[in-house]
Amino acid sequence: MSDLFTCKTIEELDENEKKDYEKHCTFMRAAIEEGEKAFIEGEVPVACVIVHNDTIISRGSNKTNIKKNGTRHAELEAFDQIFLNKELNEKFKDVLLQECTLYVTVEPCLMCAAALQLVKIKKVYFGCFNEKFGGNGSVVPLNKSELSNGRPYSSISGLLKNEAIFLLQKFYNQENKKAPVPNKRKRLDPEELLKLAPTPFLSTNLTTSSTTTATKSTKTITTTPTTTTSTLTKSTKTTTMTTTINSMNSEIDSEKQEITQIQLEEQTKSIHCDTSR
Ligand SMILES: [Zn+2]
Repeated sequence: MSDLFTCKTIEELDENEKKDYEKHCTFMRAAIEEGEKAFIEGEVPVACVIVHNDTIISRGSNKTNIKKNGTRHAELEAFDQIFLNKELNEKFKDVLLQECTLYVTVEPCLMCAAALQLVKIKKVYFGCFNEKFGGNGSVVPLNKSELSNGRPYSSISGLLKNEAIFLLQKFYNQENKKAPVPNKRKRLDPEELLKLAPTPFLSTNLTTSSTTTATKSTKTITTTPTTTTSTLTKSTKTTTMTTTINSMNSEIDSEKQEITQIQLEEQTKSIHCDTSR
């Protein structure tokens, strides 16, 4: 791994490197504009521009949803704009992107970090980190690795990172609003629960007492208990009320589990979207 090719933050640049800060910001803003277009298209808004001699020669944004292809990241889309264009391809087919700089709103993932070596990119500026799949330092500093047929490159992080994060947050906030609302099931009335819970204990009582007593005991469960009922009837009431409470607790637990499951799914979806762009 070469030490010549750094993974610096924008704050770590020396004075000489900082003198072109405004120029770098201009190109990153162009990338963010592409990200805004991706947002409108319903894509995870990650975008980039490729610059040669202070001129933008290519723009790319995430197209994984539109093209139903998880590999169509902004960087690869930008490469295509160059190599599928007759004039640009003729110009760069031999030298590749050796004199080009990439400005991308989010740290290149592992796949794109390796691809950037293969096209021999000169330098990368990115906005925010891709902590799950970042290939320019977050997970592996692939930009510094000696890859076969590749060329290591320097990578500078944090250029207009707040704007890049804001763009992603806007997308994920919108996604969360689209998420299904937890299914609020109608809670059953306790009397309805009683009808659904003919407990074995109740059946036993039916065989040890008269039908009339059993009917009375069922009725007294949802009303104020009378003081004249027998010990057996009190026992029946207590047990049946316990059954009712257990049924209600069971339903509450079930709802809790359902809400937790939906939250987990939302988080998983968020993480997936965040990293699979
Ligand atoms: Zn990528």
